[in-house]
Formats: sequence, C-alpha cells, structure tokens
Amino acid sequence: MINHRGPEFAAVMDDVIGGMRWALRTDNDILLYPCSGTGGLEAGVVNLLSPGEQALFCTMGSFGDRWATIGVTYGAEVVRLTVPQGEPIDPEDVERTLAEHPDVTTVFVTHNETSTGVTNDLAAISGVVKSRGKLLAVDSVSGAGCLPLQTDELDIDVLVTGSQKGWMSPPGIAMIAVSAAAFARAKTATSPRVYFDFDREKKYQDKHQTFTTPAVSVMYALQEGLAMLREEGLENVWARHARVGRMIRAGVKAMGMKLLAAEGHRSDTVTAVHSPADSPEALKSLLTTLRTTHSLVLAGGQDSLQGKIFRIGHLGWIDDADAYTILSLLEAGLISTGLRTRGGLAVAAAQAEARGGVAQAEPVTVG
Ligand code: PLP
Repeated sequence: MINHRGPEFAAVMDDVIGGMRWALRTDNDILLYPCSGTGGLEAGVVNLLSPGEQALFCTMGSFGDRWATIGVTYGAEVVRLTVPQGEPIDPEDVERTLAEHPDVTTVFVTHNETSTGVTNDLAAISGVVKSRGKLLAVDSVSGAGCLPLQTDELDIDVLVTGSQKGWMSPPGIAMIAVSAAAFARAKTATSPRVYFDFDREKKYQDKHQTFTTPAVSVMYALQEGLAMLREEGLENVWARHARVGRMIRAGVKAMGMKLLAAEGHRSDTVTAVHSPADSPEALKSLLTTLRTTHSLVLAGGQDSLQGKIFRIGHLGWIDDADAYTILSLLEAGLISTGLRTRGGLAVAAAQAEARGGVAQAEPVTVG
C-alpha cells in the first residue's frame, strides 16, 4: 500500500478519475467511495433528497426496489413506478406519473436491471424527465463500461457504477458522476449523512485525496481496467458486449429455453432465462451440477424470481470464446441432469450469430 495522502496516490486517483470521465462520457466530477454499488445508491438518495420530499423511483426488479427502499428509509415520499418482471420502464408511463405527481423533484431509474436482464431506454426516459425540469439519478452498476452510455448528453445528475462489474476490478469502489445541479441540490438536501456527503468528498477530491481511507488496492485494479478499455476503444467494448449478448441469447434459445426480458430490451451484460426444470429443486440441482461438475457458475433468481429463472453474466473481460465455453458447459449440464438429450445446438447458433446471423458456415476445404 502507499500513503493515500501523498503524491503517488494522487497520481493514481487522477488517472482513474480521468478514465472514468472518458468512459462515462462526462465532464462531471467523479466521486470515488470505498463501498459497493449499494453505497452509491444510498449516496444518491441522501444527497438529492430531504425527508418528506417527493421522488419517483422507477423499478423493474430487485435493484430498483432496493433504491426505492433506501428512499423510504430516509423518509422521502416515494412514488413508485413498477413494471412486471422482464419489462422495461415505458417513458410514457414516466411522463404520466410525473404529470400526476407534479411535486416530484427527482427521478431514480435503473439503467440495466441485473435481476431481470432488462436494459432501459435511458435516452427516452431522460427526455421525459428533463423536459419537466427534474433531476435524474441512474443506477448503472451493471451497465456502465459495457453498454453505450452518454452521461452528459443525457443530462444525468447522479450516475452510480461499481468497480466489480464492467470495470473488471475487485469489488470495493463505487464511482459516482455528479452534475453541478446535483451538487447544488446537495447543498440544500437535509437527509442525514456523513460518509456519503458529496460536498465534503468533493472538497477532498479537489485536493487529490479522499475524505476517508480509500480502497487503494482496488484503485490500482481500476486503473488497469480503465487502461484496458482505453486500449480496446470504448465503441469496440460496446460492440463486443452487444455481440456476446446476442451469441448468448441465440445459444440459450437454440437449447429451447425462454428469455425473461422483453424483446428489444434484452441486456447485453446479463441474460435471465426461464427455468428449464419443472421445480425449484430441479433448477437448484442444475446450477449445483454446473458449478461442481462443469465449473460453470450461474446465478439463480433473486427475491420472487428465486427458483424460476437463472442468470448468465456476460460483462467485463469476456469475449466470443467465453460465450462458446459458457454455452457448451450449460448444454453439457442440461444433458447430465436429464433436462435435455441433444447437444451441439447452442454453440452452432452462437457461431451463426457471431457471423451476423448467417445460419450456415461456409464449407471448409481441407487439403
Ligand atoms: N444495482 C445493480 C443494477 C446491481 O446489479 C447491483 C449488484 O449487482 C447493485 C445495484 C448493488 O451493488 P453491490 O452489490 O455492489 O452493492
């Protein structure tokens, strides 16, 4: 470790902040907190809202619900816009809800809902929110750094992401892009806060330090993750995630399984799949077999989706070869647990997708 109040650390921190501004397409301040993504969500609430203040929380799954719960906990008057699992937030519903609740000052929305594998149309949502002069806070813990995201173009006031997802680093840092309007709001917001106070953190960061002891070792990793993204080029990173997402979805469908997320809103970082098993126990057995026999770790469903879906994460340091590996191991697990009898379907479908949807490979002439 190095002295976090010395010039060496300041150089690392400046590099990370510059990289984050580049990756998030923003000139806003980037505050770095030693906490997980949820801490970033809490920071957004306590700096933007005061007890009794009306705020709209758009929730389409567990992480949107979590943000709304934080709002309730700090005494905000929470208006919820909820959609069925697998559906995105409809910008027209946001428009209608804001018209019905003119006192709402701030809108909170999840960019990419990891519990359902749904990506929202942030541009359309931002258009509605900004046309009514509200502040916009976005949870992009599992989207930023992987999915196209233009923080300043969309006029996002608080954008939260976390080191352990697209940034290819260990958990431990929440990175938050904060607009001038959000800093101005924080000056008057009366929610109790110490650790997450934007104003205090900014004063330290302006001196190339952090208020508390930073997660120094995660900062090194973040610096390297950002260097990797720069080397590849952000558009290429986005295109790679889009391609791998399509490959995973094509492979899953070829094995006869159904996706939870609505067509057109399917995430390129996580795919939620309806269980191919007829009971939660059989799904658990599939996931256990995949982990212990096939070395493939997939996540189950969260909250009310437990036992009903499983999820494949495909973000960060991932490429086509990983997609083929995931799909072939999944297929092997389905066969070894008796849920499928035929193999060889998933990789072929993914390969066709990687070639741009051409179903048949060119014949290979050998010799
Ligand atoms: N928001 C989203 C969309 C997430 O995917 C996660 C974690 O997976 C979180 C918030 C919470 O982040 P953390 O687990 O780092 O607190």
